Amino acid sequence: MYRINIDNLEVYAYHGVLKEEKTLGQKFLISAEVILNNSSTSYDDNIEKSVNYVDICKLIDKVTVENKFNLIETLAETLAERILLEYYKIKSVKVKVSKPSAPIPLPLDRVSVQVERSWHTVYVSIGSNMGDKQQYLNGAIKSIAENPLCRVIAISDFISTKPVGTVPQDDFLNACICVQTLYSPHEFLDLLHNIENKAGRKRTIKWGPRTLDLDIILFDDLILSDGILTIPHSEMSNRLFVLEPLVQIAPYVIHPVYKCTALELYYRLKR
Ligand code: ADP
Ligand code: MG
Repeated sequence: MYRINIDNLEVYAYHGVLKEEKTLGQKFLISAEVILNNSSTSYDDNIEKSVNYVDICKLIDKVTVENKFNLIETLAETLAERILLEYYKIKSVKVKVSKPSAPIPLPLDRVSVQVERSWHTVYVSIGSNMGDKQQYLNGAIKSIAENPLCRVIAISDFISTKPVGTVPQDDFLNACICVQTLYSPHEFLDLLHNIENKAGRKRTIKWGPRTLDLDIILFDDLILSDGILTIPHSEMSNRLFVLEPLVQIAPYVIHPVYKCTALELYYRLKR
């Protein structure tokens, strides 16, 4: 793992809530710490394998000059997002924005805000048992892939499975995909709900037939349960239609509660 640190890049710009800040402008100091994806231990002295920090500095300068935000929080978030979207090799970034001459009538050195953003790795289970099932699955994958804050990095086979539960209904087509996203878990759930709604998903009978069902199975190694969202998905270890496609694309991904691989969960359920 490599970090690149950019310390106190000086940019003259026009962010702030006060009118004078927007018209006269002031100096901003911007620092960034980026962590690269590369799992290899060496860059062979080759700039192509790393990320050119001059380019990152130019991007920071451009974004800072081109916008006029009220808050330095917004500037920091925008910079973090733009850096992550621009450079595929960057996994996470911390951005700190300082205003050394902030108009505050009290003796202080400077005010600053810091944000940290990173690509999250999410496994999503996809299912359909109404209409053109294959098209619903493909449509969902396309919608996620077309979202600028998401990248679909693996897709399992589509497998045909028998419905579970007591509601008589058609067989399912199931799959699992791996997505990298800049969204938080709840933002990502909202995206999935929008895609389900666009596919005409109706929530009438619990565990009844559906055009499209999109469930978050794992989100990094996060453990969360807040009444809206439970991660890891509470039923994943009881569902072969989730585990079989998951194992295809990520056999060694770890379930953060059971502390075992997807493959182990799959074998346990099979037994
Ligand atoms: P199911 O997938 O169990 O058949 P729904 O798709 O209708 O049922 O989801 C019902 C609710 O489950 C969603 O509105 C969502 O708030 C909640 N939920 C909790 N955890 C998750 C998760 N990990 N992924 C997706 N939805 C979840
Ligand atoms: Mg669901």
